[in-house]
Amino acid sequence: MARFQPDAVLVIGLGRFGSALAGTLVGLGHQVLGVDTDRKIVQEMSSQLTHVVEADTTSEEALRQIGAGDFNRAVVAIGSDVEASILTTSLLVDFGIAQIWAKAVSRAHGRILDRVGAHRVVYPEHDMGERVAHMVTGRMVDYVELSDNYALVETRPPADIVGKPLGQTGIRSRHGVTVVCIKHVGADFDYAHPDTVVKADDLIVVLGPIQKAVRFAQTRN
Ligand code: ADP
Repeated sequence: MARFQPDAVLVIGLGRFGSALAGTLVGLGHQVLGVDTDRKIVQEMSSQLTHVVEADTTSEEALRQIGAGDFNRAVVAIGSDVEASILTTSLLVDFGIAQIWAKAVSRAHGRILDRVGAHRVVYPEHDMGERVAHMVTGRMVDYVELSDNYALVETRPPADIVGKPLGQTGIRSRHGVTVVCIKHVGADFDYAHPDTVVKADDLIVVLGPIQKAVRFAQTRN
């Protein structure tokens, strides 16, 4: 098996999520070993990833043969076959991989992945659904959930903060959010200052607890 650099990532399951993730990692300059049981998928991905292997990762022996234990980071992107996802994750835990990310298709699936020792469980479909829901309502342009219930929200400003310096709008006390940066039409994003004056057609990025940040982007006044 090819020797991989310490920041190489093992991606297991090259479905829609796994293949997009693996391709992006390669684009970011990481070596990626992609693994899938499906020969056709393995062939399709072979030109895009550093190395691709056809293997069933529910087999400890198969994982040993591909050198899974040499990786510091692995992503289990098997979703529809929940049993295979859980078995694979638990074997990677036994191999002592330092950072195991696993995709869950339901809360119950996620809880089990957590129990067997995945370090991070992600819910791509649920999270994207939530994100799009926030964007199709109100003035929100983009939404990124951070840890500890915080979110960054890109939005058009509500009328009550337009036309006066941010420091005089009382935005933190009234809305519970902070304006992090601002983009005037035709200009790049710039950091917001207390004396920055927001115009109605500006884009702003605010940071705050999720509920407050979302409510702020839905304020109509
Ligand atoms: P998505 O919704 O992202 O397309 P899927 O769960 O449908 O995700 O796809 C997961 C991929 O994982 C599929 O390409 C499938 O062939 C692969 N896969 C499923 N079971 C195993 C396994 N035991 N070992 C390796 N790959 C697997």
